Order: sequence, then structure tokens, then C-alpha cells
Amino acid sequence: MFTEDHGPVPAGRPAQAAAPHLTNFDVAVIGGGPAGSAVATRLADKGWTVVQFEKDRHPRFHIGESLLPRTLPLLEQLGVLDDVARIGVTKHAAEFWSSEHGRFVEFPFAEALDPNPPYAFQVRRSEFDELLLRNSAAHGVAVKEGWRVESVELDAPDSCRLVARDPSGQATHWQSRFLVDATGRDTFLATRLATKTRNKQHNSAAIFGHFRGAQRREGRAEGNISIYWFEHGWFWMIPLRDDIMSVGAVCWPYYLKSRRVPVDEFFLSTIALQPQVQARLAKAELVSDVTATGNYSYQSTGMYGRNYLMVGDAFAFIDPVFSTGVHFALSGAFAGADAVDAALREPARATAHLAAHQRRLKRGLKTFSWFIYRITTPAMRHLVTNPRNMFRIRDAMVSLLAGDLFGKTSIHARLSLFRVIYYLHVLAAPRVNLAAYRQRRRNVDGPELRAESATHAGDSR
Ligand SMILES: Cc1cc2nc3c(=O)[nH]c(=O)nc-3n(C[C@H](O)[C@H](O)[C@H](O)COP(=O)(O)OP(=O)(O)OC[C@H]3O[C@@H](n4cnc5c(N)ncnc54)[C@H](O)[C@@H]3O)c2cc1C
Repeated sequence: MFTEDHGPVPAGRPAQAAAPHLTNFDVAVIGGGPAGSAVATRLADKGWTVVQFEKDRHPRFHIGESLLPRTLPLLEQLGVLDDVARIGVTKHAAEFWSSEHGRFVEFPFAEALDPNPPYAFQVRRSEFDELLLRNSAAHGVAVKEGWRVESVELDAPDSCRLVARDPSGQATHWQSRFLVDATGRDTFLATRLATKTRNKQHNSAAIFGHFRGAQRREGRAEGNISIYWFEHGWFWMIPLRDDIMSVGAVCWPYYLKSRRVPVDEFFLSTIALQPQVQARLAKAELVSDVTATGNYSYQSTGMYGRNYLMVGDAFAFIDPVFSTGVHFALSGAFAGADAVDAALREPARATAHLAAHQRRLKRGLKTFSWFIYRITTPAMRHLVTNPRNMFRIRDAMVSLLAGDLFGKTSIHARLSLFRVIYYLHVLAAPRVNLAAYRQRRRNVDGPELRAESATHAGDSR
């Protein structure tokens, strides 16, 4: 049993006078982000009764605006692909600015090993998440918006119990056979179960906001996500509808820790450190709050128990560089819904179903993590900006960037070859790469940071 203060119930606590009224569902989902809405929709489609709690009210701002091609078939199965296309900007490629060549190096999704679909979308998450939550309700899920889950009990024989505070502040009591935690970075269960671990291999922070009037790329490149390295990390530029550009800098925490001025001023001075980003924003106006967010690389040691499962960021989050967050959230939700369905039908085999799901997802995370940990190293920067397609290794990289990790495409052997080439590059320039490695270790072990945001006139969200 767990209480609000995240600890076990102390022995000897007096029993409650009267049992509270319990409302019953097959599955309770905590969280109304992409992971929560997808898992709830899928389970309702399979015939289970589902209640979904979201503490906020949609539309609400969320970061994570660049989607991957491989997410599109999942959106289609949820029945929202046309709606997402309507709110999105079409993204044909990811591109990295090469200061060596003075131009972008593009990775067009049409050149992936399996180029289907050859594009994705950039979306405002306020619109995207609302669409998915409304869709969840349309599929029969009992959506409780503005309801915060405060405590859960997982140790009753055939059920989970939870307490949720309704919008008027009243505590309400619920019972379900299974619980899905989709609370994102709040990591509701991992925090209470003390299974959340800081990623010892990675550590970063981000500062971001929306601009109006930024210079957009031309033609088919207009919807590309543009990535630029700079001395403290890297920038993203993500074009959204209505002439809005999402701009963010993902930095080592020491850099954000050096801030002595208001967060929006710091953001603008950070942008001034990257001439290409600054040039594209020369005529643009900051139209949103600027948000700074602290160390976010973590993982729970396990994602499931007999009657619960964590999906999306509630289980793990590494880094945004490959725009994988929403894809992992939805892939985890789809596979997770199958595992929960199987667990409810065959309780005796619940653990086997959930274990198989965990193995698959952890493997995907591991593949991405190897690239993420090295993205700012000299060897990786060289290979990304000078891609070679020997044995279709470059096309496998495009497949990785498209999120093609959980299908049948044979990318793993080619990515292993890429790793060999990477280490050969490291060996070819040992001093510079050793220095980079040591600096990286210092950065990873660096200071902890807390999230913060500042208000700036206007808000495009
Ligand atoms: C700087 C940065 C940039 C990123 N960029 C990208 C990107 O370009 N593309 C991409 O795909 N991903 C990106 N991500 C990752 C992406 O934001 C997440 O991976 C994604 O939102 C995970 O979805 P989720 O449904 O698991 O969690 P969330 O989207 O966080 O949803 C969790 C929901 O649970 C609700 N909740 C929490 N606690 C409770 C409670 N107790 N009771 C009720 N409700 C609760 C929250 O209000 C929230 O709505 C980025 C992340 C960061 C930090």
C-alpha cells in the first residue's frame, strides 16, 4: 500500500470507520498524455471498461512537438491520423547543420530501409494531446479531466484501489483489476515504489520557447526538424502551423546552472551563441513563456507488476534528440494494451506477457541510448555530417530517425556496423575523443537542476 507522501503505511494506523464507496472498472489509467490516451483507447476497443484520470484540463501546453513516421500507423489505428494531419506541418526529413560544410545534411525519411510512411508531422502538443484525449472518450473511456490521482493500493488480492481528487477537491475512491501509470515525468508509481533511477550515462537540461516570424526552410524542407550543435549542447528548430517556430536548446546542466539573469533573457543570449539559429530568428518575435527544464534522463528498474504497468515517460525518458518520446509512448501503449489484455484474460500468465513487453521496449531504448549518449562527440558529429551509405548504413540511420525499431526491418546489423565505424573514428583521433569523453563524464556527473519557467508577453500555445 502507498500513501500520498510516497511511503508505506505505518504499522498500527487505525482502521477507517466506514469503507468508502468504490466505483469499479476493469482498468484505471492515470494520465491524459499520448501514452495514457492510447492505452485507454486500445483497451476500451478490446472491450474492457476503462477510466482515465488527467489532473490538468486540455488543451494545455506540453513539450515534444516533433513526431516520427513510424508513429503514423499507430495514429491511424487510433482513428486520428486525418485530424493530426490537419493540425500538423508535414516533416519529410531530419536535418543537421554542418559547420564543416556550411550547409544542412538531410536524412529524408523516403530513404529509410522501409520508407513507409515517408513523412511525419510537427504538432502543437496542446492540440495533439487534446485530440487523443477526446478520441479516448469517443471510444468509450470514462475520461476524468481535472482529476488528480493521489494514492494507490496495489496489494488487494484481485484489484487495485486508488483515490482521486475531483475538480471540486472531493476525494473519490476507485477500484480496478489493473492499473496503468501514464503520468509522464511525474512518474507516479516509480516514485512511490522507489524504482526510479537517475541515468548514470546521461544528463541534460533544456530551455525552450515559441517564436513567430522565424525564417522557414524552403520547399519540401519547410517542415524539417533542424538540429544545430553549439558549444554547450544542441538546438532544435521545429516549424509549427501559423508561422510559429518551436526553438529549444538542450544543454549540459552546468550551462543552465550558470544563469544569472531572467530565464527569457538567458534563452536569447543562448540563441546568440549559435549564429545560424540566431540568423533564422533575426526578424522573429518570442511569443510564449520560456521554460527551463532540469535533468530528465531516468528509468524505472521495472515497468510492471502483477496488476500494474508503466507506459511512456512514466517508465523512462532519455533525451529528446531523436524525437522519440511520443513514439515510445504510443508504441509502449499499444504493446502495453496487448499485454494488459492478455493479463486480464489469463491472470496466471500475466507476468509472462508483461515481461515479454518489457524486454522488447528495453531493447528499443537501449538501441537509441547508444546514439544519444554519443550525439555531441566529435566522432558522431563527423559521421552524421559526412554520412556514407556503404551496406546501406546511412539508410539504416534514416530508419532509426524514423522510429523503425519495433518492426521487422533489419536495421540492427547495420547499426552494429555503424558502431564499429564509430569506434574506428575514435581510435583514429584518440586525443580529441578521449578529451571529449572526459568532458562528457564531468558533464554527466555535474549538478542537478530544477525546472522553472518565466512568463513573457503573449502565448502562442
Ligand atoms: C525538452 C524536451 C523536448 C522534447 N521533444 C520531443 C519531440 O520533439 N518529440 C517527441 O516525440 N518527444 C519529445 N519529448 C518527449 C515527450 O515530451 C514525452 O516523451 C511525451 O510527452 C511522453 O508522453 P506521456 O504520455 O508518457 O507523458 P505526458 O505527455 O507527460 O503525459 C502525462 C500526463 O499525466 C498527467 N498526470 C501526471 N500525474 C497525474 C496524476 N497524479 N493524476 C492525473 N494525471 C496525472 C499529466 O498532467 C500529463 O498530462 C521532449 C521532451 C523534452 C523534455
